[in-house]
Amino acid sequence: MNGNADIIKMTTCGPLEIATFPCRTDNYGYLMRDTDSGLVAAVDAPEAAQIEAALSQLGWTLTHILLTHHHGDHIEGVEQLCAGGGVTVVGAKADAVRLPKLHKQVVAGQPWRFGDHEVRIFDTPGHTVGHIVYYLPGPKVLFSGDTLFAMGCGRLFEGTALQMWGSLATLKELPDETTVFFGHEYTAANGDFSLDIEPDNPDLLARIADTAKTLAEGGYTAPSTLGEEKRTNPFIRADTAAVARSVSLVGADAAIVFAEVRRRKDRK
Ligand SMILES: [Zn+2]
Repeated sequence: MNGNADIIKMTTCGPLEIATFPCRTDNYGYLMRDTDSGLVAAVDAPEAAQIEAALSQLGWTLTHILLTHHHGDHIEGVEQLCAGGGVTVVGAKADAVRLPKLHKQVVAGQPWRFGDHEVRIFDTPGHTVGHIVYYLPGPKVLFSGDTLFAMGCGRLFEGTALQMWGSLATLKELPDETTVFFGHEYTAANGDFSLDIEPDNPDLLARIADTAKTLAEGGYTAPSTLGEEKRTNPFIRADTAAVARSVSLVGADAAIVFAEVRRRKDRK
């Protein structure tokens, strides 16, 4: 990650065009354009200058900012991006007190719409207690913030392991073909750790090789698919026999297995 937003990766998910570009040290910036309505949302606002540069390069006009959680590296750009007006800031009602001023407060279980597209909001406590993620069931797109990463998950700054496991278990119910746009480029280090847990997982070995190649070429590992995570991510796989066995917790509740995997990652 070199913080060069000139290099934008485009992903088309049904009627959505989604731009991925680096921000700050290791954050990802995302811009989502609905080709039906022309609406354009930034998902989190790690850095105004990079997001403005991407908007300018794409010729897009920002209409929305969707916030996942209150950490500075996800909200810092909000004020500047809103300075010209015309931008609707969306975030969790339950965490509104710690977020920038919200124009639309959303609640898990109450769908919101981006143009004509349904957006489901899930509470995913763990990294922070007020963290939410955005899922568009039509094009099967998930913005997972700092809850789910490629082969990783967010650190437990506020929530418990039990809460975070519940969050990941909720996301695990989404379809394998879901495209996952995650908050940070931690993929190489996550892959390295994942190998400690499942050294013989062939899907993991293949993914780590792909990751090394992508990063060596200056590419981005985002987005991934939920299917890839279900096959290779040791955190979301805490309910599998393979991961339980590797941390010597065969037969234990998945939340206990998850807590042990998270503890090992924190110590690495
Ligand atoms: Zn965070």
